[in-house]
Amino acid sequence: MQNEFKFLIGNDWRESKNVLEVRNPYNNDIIGITYLAAEDDVNDAIQKAVFAFKETRKLPAYKRAEILCNIKNGILERKEDFARTITLEAGKPIADARLEVERAICTFQIAMEEAKRISGEYISLDISERSKNRNAIHKRFPIGPILGITPFNFPLNLVVHKIAPAIASGNTIIIKPASKTPLTALLLGKVISESGLPNGAFSVFPCSPGLAEQIVADDRIKMLTFTGSAEIGWRLKQIANKKRVTLELGGNAGTIIDCNDNLDYAVRRCITSAFSYSGQVCISLQRLFINKIIYSDFMSKFLKEIKTLKMGDPMDENTKLGPMIDEQSARRTELWIKEAVNQGAVIASGGLRKGVFFEPTVVTNTTPQMKINANEVFAPVVTVTEYESFEDAVEQLNNSVYGLQAGIFTNNIKHVFYAYEHLDIGGVIINDVPSFRADNMPYGGAKESGIGREGVRYAMEEMTEPKLLVLNLS
Ligand code: NAP
Repeated sequence: MQNEFKFLIGNDWRESKNVLEVRNPYNNDIIGITYLAAEDDVNDAIQKAVFAFKETRKLPAYKRAEILCNIKNGILERKEDFARTITLEAGKPIADARLEVERAICTFQIAMEEAKRISGEYISLDISERSKNRNAIHKRFPIGPILGITPFNFPLNLVVHKIAPAIASGNTIIIKPASKTPLTALLLGKVISESGLPNGAFSVFPCSPGLAEQIVADDRIKMLTFTGSAEIGWRLKQIANKKRVTLELGGNAGTIIDCNDNLDYAVRRCITSAFSYSGQVCISLQRLFINKIIYSDFMSKFLKEIKTLKMGDPMDENTKLGPMIDEQSARRTELWIKEAVNQGAVIASGGLRKGVFFEPTVVTNTTPQMKINANEVFAPVVTVTEYESFEDAVEQLNNSVYGLQAGIFTNNIKHVFYAYEHLDIGGVIINDVPSFRADNMPYGGAKESGIGREGVRYAMEEMTEPKLLVLNLS
């Protein structure tokens, strides 16, 4: 059958009785089918991962780097295929999908380099008479089979952020992709199956939430690396019990516009951050705080720029705003906006749902308690608040259960360090928006936004255990 994607257990491509239809969010067409893995498949995947770990833990650095290089080249050869698959299943505008593919290639490139850099430390222990001839080596070892669970919104690069560090650090990994966007991960499975990675070191399959929870609880799995909503992530952490867990969860990212130097640049960056991929990015700009002195200047430019955004078919090269992932998400956004307006908020632009689309929306006169501020909106919606003192803006930005990244536009070095010190957050981005991410930087959240860090080297640290060797050379 055309557009049939089997799932991958070790080197076996399999199907099951449970067909999963994958639809284009833009027009609801079925773009491909795959299958939900059954209990036996899942069990085989875990067993193979355990077995293959005996081999991957001993793979020399040059071999791991070679495999990662083969995968990188495999994606390069099929760049457009990957981009179109992302657009078709996630509704992501094609230009953004191409960018995601470029980033995935870069993430494998980083992993290739980092694979050769895991080294340890030599420590002299001759700090007293008692230990005068002792020396030590401290280095990191891979921990064993890892389970990666990934969300719908970056169906390639967020999957890669789990696979690449796992391979680079000598681990085996099983991926359960989001059921709305599994095809990109299965396409990546094809590339990985031709990379020279030992059989069983990688499996990828969609499955029911119940079965996914069984894998999370399975003692043979040594680590869960989860990217998705806070609700599911924290629940899985309970089920994971004593195993290692990293959680990359949601947020309601804020930005402070503190000074009027290059306001046009700040406006352009804020538009990109708030509305790209219809705001369905964990670090999308959701809450904007603007210095009173520049408020009206910024707002007039911002509201003018919004009108230039083209909403429509994500396959169209000029589209900036595609559909939301499903109509339910667009309806939920509509509800939250109506609720805010009933509580006194004012819509400065947009505010309307058109089927599965939601207009780029700017809301003023909000309170921190309104859902569009307090919750993760995950839609093209930004709230705007005027402030008088920078310290007050930082306090307002901090007033959230989440803490992923924040953007601060300022040339005041005192403000830079004030924000860095006082924000309870994973990252502070100066003179750019919270959605800035380079794939080698440590990335992750505080508070409800998660635990642990990704960004290849940092994920490799999470995926390895340090071990000490003490030598008595007397
Ligand atoms: P989600 O609903 O939490 O789903 C994430 C993954 O968890 C999917 O693969 C999903 O499978 C799976 N899942 C759901 N219920 C499960 C269960 N009971 N047991 C095991 N797995 C389960 O999130 P989403 O809607 O796909 O993605 C959006 C969320 O991800 C947002 O909150 C966003 O902020 C967050 N996110 C965070 C980051 C970050 O790096 N911090 C990056 C991107 C996205 P199904 O698809 O089959 O339900």
